[in-house]
Amino acid sequence: MRVLNFGSLNIDYVYRVDNFLKPGETKAAQSLTVFAGGKGLNQSLALARAGVDVAHAGKVGAEGAFLVEKLRAAGVDTSRIGISGQANGHAIIQVDDSGRNCILLFGGANKDMDNDFIARSLAGFGAGDVLLLQNEISSIGAIITAAKNQGMTIAMNPAPFDGEIAKYPLDMIDIFILNEIEASDLVDESDPEKAAAVLGNRFPEAKIVVTLGAEGSLCVESGATFRQKAYKVKAVDTTAAGDTFTGYFLAGLIEGMDVGRALDLGAKAAAICVTRMGAADSVPLRSEVR
Ligand code: ADP
Repeated sequence: MRVLNFGSLNIDYVYRVDNFLKPGETKAAQSLTVFAGGKGLNQSLALARAGVDVAHAGKVGAEGAFLVEKLRAAGVDTSRIGISGQANGHAIIQVDDSGRNCILLFGGANKDMDNDFIARSLAGFGAGDVLLLQNEISSIGAIITAAKNQGMTIAMNPAPFDGEIAKYPLDMIDIFILNEIEASDLVDESDPEKAAAVLGNRFPEAKIVVTLGAEGSLCVESGATFRQKAYKVKAVDTTAAGDTFTGYFLAGLIEGMDVGRALDLGAKAAAICVTRMGAADSVPLRSEVR
């Protein structure tokens, strides 16, 4: 059983500034640090570090070669990553002296998908394989439909949430993994547990996993609700907690674990992630989770 993660590949440019730029102002930044990012890249790393046979499909710009190398070095099959004529997807992040940030996103190559690239990327995958998606690339509806036609199981982390998500063929999704804010936004219900129940009624064949930050997670499946506590740790940076959880939860299911054990595996891996600064590099190895 293989996973094809069709997702974003981003570059995060983090600029330290004393204060955020004001309209019309020009100023020098104190420093620049460049990170690999994107929910797609983070989740492929999490799957590979969990020990799953994972291929990543997506596109980089000319400046994104180091992202491909990072995935390849972690054991991800990168043969379905194309090079776009557009700029690599990126975020320009200002961090001020009080630690606040503001973020300018550009989708670039992540939004450069067409039917030919989708068909080539899905070639060779079929029943028994899993397609994983987030909401940072274009053509998601077409990818879901094509993968379902090939008999793949479809897992989706509909993040970040936007109004487009409701227009995707969501009834084809087998596993939803979303945080409490996304779950609430998707069904317009502020209580995350009720939101999960609404989603469970709307998609009765699917597993609905809702993560609740330090409160843990839950999964609604066939009318039953499974609950998982978060592990108590000293959290220093929760970036990529959800991506780590997603990769390890799916790894558990692929290994044949029941939902309860897969939730526990996701919670253990995510608990390690939040004890470390950073995003992609804070995703733990399976040996650490063990
Ligand atoms: P996202 O990063 O997508 O917003 P969450 O914040 O819900 O996702 O976190 C995902 C999972 O990470 C949680 O279900 C939990 O298992 C774990 N987690 C998040 N924050 C903490 C924390 N402070 N302590 C321990 N585990 C945490």
